[in-house]
Amino acid sequence: MNAQPRVAIIGAGIGGLTAALELHAAGIPCQVYEGVAELSAIGVGINILPHATRRLSRLGLQDELAAVAVTTRESLYFNRFGQRIYTEPAGLAAGYAWPQFSIHRGDLQSVLARAVRERLGEDALATGHRCTSVEQDDTGVTVHLGHPDGSSSTARADAVVACDGVHSVIRRQLHPDEGRPVYSGYNMWRGVAPWPKILGGAGMIRAGWLATGKLVVYPIRDDIDDQGRQLVNWVVEIETPHHADRDWNRAGRVEDFIDRFADWHFDWLDVPELIRSSDGILEYPMVDQDPLPWWGRGRVTLLGDAAHPMVPRGSNGAGQAILDAGALADALTRHPGPAEAFAAYEAVRRPATTAVVRANRTNPPDAILREVYERTGDRPFDRIEDVIPVEDLDSIIAAYKRTAGYEVAALRDA
Ligand SMILES: Cc1cc2nc3c(=O)[nH]c(=O)nc-3n(C[C@H](O)[C@H](O)[C@H](O)COP(=O)(O)OP(=O)(O)OC[C@H]3O[C@@H](n4cnc5c(N)ncnc54)[C@H](O)[C@@H]3O)c2cc1C
Repeated sequence: MNAQPRVAIIGAGIGGLTAALELHAAGIPCQVYEGVAELSAIGVGINILPHATRRLSRLGLQDELAAVAVTTRESLYFNRFGQRIYTEPAGLAAGYAWPQFSIHRGDLQSVLARAVRERLGEDALATGHRCTSVEQDDTGVTVHLGHPDGSSSTARADAVVACDGVHSVIRRQLHPDEGRPVYSGYNMWRGVAPWPKILGGAGMIRAGWLATGKLVVYPIRDDIDDQGRQLVNWVVEIETPHHADRDWNRAGRVEDFIDRFADWHFDWLDVPELIRSSDGILEYPMVDQDPLPWWGRGRVTLLGDAAHPMVPRGSNGAGQAILDAGALADALTRHPGPAEAFAAYEAVRRPATTAVVRANRTNPPDAILREVYERTGDRPFDRIEDVIPVEDLDSIIAAYKRTAGYEVAALRDA
C-alpha cells in the first residue's frame, strides 16, 4: 500500500470511486477507504445523463458502461390513465456527443471499482476501513478508521475528501449543529423485475402525479434471458405523512402502496403486474438537506451526497457526484496546495449543486406531470394540446437542464 497517500478518499460509492479515477488521471496519488467489508451490487437503477457520461467517457469508461447499461434514447411522460403527454429524445438521440445510460447502481459501482483497482492498484481501494473522524494539522490530516473485527487504526494524508454519502460522519463532524433532514412529504418504493421491452425498451417513463401516485420506469439491463427480456427498474412515489429514516437497503411492503396503482392497466404496460413480479421491494423517503453555507475547511472537503444530499428526482444524484469529482481533480491540478484547491472546488460546485438541490424540490423535469394533473383536474384529456402548449412543456425541461448543467449547447461548448 502507498504508505503516505496524498489524498484520502472516504467512501467507495459513485462519487468516491470517480474521484479516485479523476485524481489518478491527473497524476495525483490517492487512497480510497470504504466502510463495508466487501462491495456488493446493492441499490437499484440510476440514470447517468450526458454531462456525467462526458466525464466518464474522458476516463475511458464509455464502452464498458455501454456493455452493462441500457443506452437511453427518450424520456416519455404520461398521465395516470396511460395517455402520453410528452416525449423528448435523450442522450445521443437528442444530439449530445455522449449517451445517457440507465444502469443498475451495482453495475456502475463495479465498473468504477474495477477501473480503480486496475489503474491505481489493488490496494488503492481498502474495504473494511470505516472512517470515524478526521483531525487536521499544519502538515496533513489523520484519518481515524474502524475495522469489521472491532479494531481501529489511523492513516495520514495530505488532504481528505469525504465521499461517505448521506450519513457522512465527516459532514457531521464539520457541521455538528446542522438541522435535520427535510422530508418532502413523499415516500418512495422501488424494485426491479424481468420484463419484455416497454415502448421500444430504451425509454425513461414517468407517469401520474405525486398526489395520487407517480411512477418512474426504465430498463437497466438488456437481454437478461433467452426471451430477450430486460431488467426493468420501477420507482413509485406517493404523498405520505409518515416516513422512516434514510436507509438505501430498507425493505418495503407492496401492500403499503399497490392500491394506488390497482387500475393502471395500460395497453403498453400492466403496472400492478410489473410491481408484483419484482423480487424484493425497497423503501426510501424523499428526503434532502438544506444546502450548507460552506462544505469543508482547510485540507478537508465534501463531495457527492455528503456535500449536497438531494431528493432523488431528476436523475442527478450520481451525476452531480461525478461532476464534483471532475471539478475536484481540475482544482487540485491548478492550485499548489490542497486548501486552495478545495476552496476553488467548493466555489464552483457548491452554488451549482445548491441550485440542483432546490430545483429537485420544486421544479424537476416531472413538473410536467404536475402541470397536466392540475390543468386537467386529474381527468383524462382528448388532446394534450388543449391542456398545455407543447412550448410550455419544452420550457419546463429546458429550465431544469440549464440548472443541472446538461443543455446540449452548453456541453458542446464546454
Ligand atoms: C447501498 C446504496 C444503495 C443505493 N441505491 C440507490 C438507488 O437504488 N437509486 C439511487 O438513485 N441512488 C441510490 N444510492 C445513492 C446513490 O448512489 C448516490 O445518491 C449517488 O450515486 C451519489 O454518490 P455518493 O458517492 O455521494 O454516495 P454513495 O454512492 O451513497 O456512496 C457512499 C459510500 O460511502 C461509504 N461510506 C459511508 N460511510 C462511510 C464511512 N464512515 N467510512 C468509509 N466509507 C463510508 C458507503 O458504504 C458507500 O459506499 C444508493 C447508495 C447506497 C450506499
